[in-house]
Amino acid sequence: MKERGIVYLVGAGPGDPGLITEKGMLRLKSCDAVVYDSLASDLLLKAVPDHCEKIYVGKRAGFHSMKQEEINQLLVELAEKGRKVVRLKGGDPFVFGRGGEEILALKKADIPYEVVSGVTSAVAALASAGIPVTHRAISRSFHVMTGHTLSEEGTLPPDFNAFASLSGTLIFLMGLGNLPLIVSGLMDQGKPGTTPAAVIENGTLPGQKVVRGNLLDIQQKVEAFGVKSPAIIVVGETAALDFSSTGKQPLEGCRIGITGTPSFTGKLHKELSSLGGTVEYLLSLSLQSYRSDERMQAAYEDLKSYTWIVFTSANAVREFFLGLMEQGEDHRALGHIKFATVGKGTADELLKYGFRSDYTPKHYQVIDLAEGLRERITKHDRLLIPRSSRGSRELNQILNETEADYDDVVLYDVRKEGREEEQAKGKRADITKEFDYITFASASGADAFFEEDSLAALKSLEGLMVVCIGDITAQALEANGRKADLIAKEYSIQGVAKAICQHWSEKTNGRKGV
Ligand code: SAH
Repeated sequence: MKERGIVYLVGAGPGDPGLITEKGMLRLKSCDAVVYDSLASDLLLKAVPDHCEKIYVGKRAGFHSMKQEEINQLLVELAEKGRKVVRLKGGDPFVFGRGGEEILALKKADIPYEVVSGVTSAVAALASAGIPVTHRAISRSFHVMTGHTLSEEGTLPPDFNAFASLSGTLIFLMGLGNLPLIVSGLMDQGKPGTTPAAVIENGTLPGQKVVRGNLLDIQQKVEAFGVKSPAIIVVGETAALDFSSTGKQPLEGCRIGITGTPSFTGKLHKELSSLGGTVEYLLSLSLQSYRSDERMQAAYEDLKSYTWIVFTSANAVREFFLGLMEQGEDHRALGHIKFATVGKGTADELLKYGFRSDYTPKHYQVIDLAEGLRERITKHDRLLIPRSSRGSRELNQILNETEADYDDVVLYDVRKEGREEEQAKGKRADITKEFDYITFASASGADAFFEEDSLAALKSLEGLMVVCIGDITAQALEANGRKADLIAKEYSIQGVAKAICQHWSEKTNGRKGV
């Protein structure tokens, strides 16, 4: 008999991907299928294994949402196929999350399940806005209610009055559309119009908005600031407190979309996230290696004849050494060779293989690399340039003016990976609204971004700061019709991070929140 699967009901936390629990993350990292809705962060979905099937069941413009019964059925079917399924739910699965209904269906089908509790937005969105749910001498309790079913017939449910007369912090989820009804209901029960009230949109997320006021003016403020769902309403004395964090990271609130190959974007993601940025993979490129192709093979066999090897990317360094090992060679085959690298990132990668770069230009640009090489080589030199198929021609032009001999060999290529996930979410059309910056790390990455529909791609970059790792990438971008806004001074991950940090701090200094 086929092994039965299992369903993990995992709370994803309130939105900030850092607020998922360690256990939830563990389940995500080892599941075969994840069933998620709109409150789930893209970053969490990136944590699942490559083979994992991602099934979107939420509501989003242009997509039909699944009915709860259909979701229940889906979970049962997946588990019956023997899959380990994560049902990822915003906040905590049992806080207005319909987790209980899913469990009843699983129980009925005799499918094992586990509940992994999550940080609920009912507490975390408030904390993020600086509103403590309780505070000594001010609020001794907090109460959470759904505002969703309130106005089905435009009336308040009978237990609302009891709720309204409680003295602690009153918290309404899914209540934004019914705010006027909630306010009047509370005042009818004797809450003074001066009672502090706040509304938090997108709590813990980069687009977080907090509007504060009192029962009398909160609705008008919500309208004035265009507050939208998902939002939480807080009523009570603590809503007037502001304990929001003051020790902010340099990239706090900054949203960055990154493009490139996994080896690069993985590290860039880490660097930018550690600085407090919210980072999302926008376009993944995969590396196609040609290290076993004839021309590279010939180069490996003829290493003795070369005096310099020129690396114009960290990918080239990695691929070159992988190929060298596969040839049954080792570092001794390179003892007589000098190395030139285009920038710090490439030089650092080379150092990992135990070699110092003999020449790295001051400005990390191919043209400077070529000029520097020109001064260092003679007609007795022979250079090997193992690089991407889209390498800059400037290098060839300058080397052609020297008497040295060189071999420009294609070692790898980068290609665009499928965007199925983005399509499923129907959200890439307008990345402008979601990001402050987008980074490009190679000419091929820039080209790939414009590949399918260059006009739509151009439009999607309107109003965004476009960051390039170096001049070559910037040139490729310009050839596609878009000038780079920022070019990293240092050709490395740290260089990109520095450029963004500097710009973001200039932009946010002096800018006060709503
Ligand atoms: N299970 C979830 C709640 C699901 S109900 C939890 O524990 O958080 C959906 C409602 O939660 C939304 O309508 C909104 O009121 C609230 N909500 C969820 N995430 C939110 C966020 N990041 N900011 C503000 N409200 C949020």
